[in-house]
Amino acid sequence: MTAPPQSLAAYADVVARIARAAQACGRDPAEVTLVAVSKQQPWEAIEPVLAAGQRVFGENRVQEAMARWEGKAKGLTLHLIGPLQSNKAKEAVAFFDVIESLDRDKLARALAEQVEKQGRAPRLYVQVNTGEEPQKAGVTPAEADAFIAACRKDYGFDIEGLMCIPPADEPAGPHFALLRKVAERNGLAKLSMGMSDDFETAIRFGATSVRVGSAVFGARL
Ligand SMILES: *Cc1c(COP(=O)(O)O)cnc(C)c1O
Repeated sequence: MTAPPQSLAAYADVVARIARAAQACGRDPAEVTLVAVSKQQPWEAIEPVLAAGQRVFGENRVQEAMARWEGKAKGLTLHLIGPLQSNKAKEAVAFFDVIESLDRDKLARALAEQVEKQGRAPRLYVQVNTGEEPQKAGVTPAEADAFIAACRKDYGFDIEGLMCIPPADEPAGPHFALLRKVAERNGLAKLSMGMSDDFETAIRFGATSVRVGSAVFGARL
């Protein structure tokens, strides 16, 4: 028997760590979805993970994702986790199953227009900039309630949950707790939070999906 490819062993390890982290806080591992972040990864790293049964993948750029997954996306759930320009709303609505980076009215309007036109409605997450970092996308925690309300009222969106990327240089726990608080007060059950370095913490704070790239596939190209 040949040894499994490197990414397959790493993938199995991440899946096991997710299950252990869920169990450790009394949660059902099935409540936590692994979004395997395949951005900037060579196909040789992705293929064994796909063959092992992983069906949910995350990408941060529309064009790159389309090039990678075009013709291969059947039966998969593809998440857009990177910032989206409203002039790419057409491609994003046509291609992705989940868009996690909704964070402004102009984008909401462009997405609503495309949903109407295409008769296809990706599931939507509002991105919250919990650290209020100027260079980062997302609504501030203070703006979140009004933005979510406007998405519901003005565009008829059934927002599925919230997403955050905590500041790289701070403990992530308080940011995960804040995201959860914003979700709870807005009646949202889904939390996309946690990456390679902190997905176990995120699960402890209630993550329903974790976005893990390098721990699954290795360092990006
Ligand atoms: C790249 C990326 C990830 C995955 O990061 P890793 O540290 O490789 O797990 C998760 N979320 C977002 C929004 C990303 O852009």
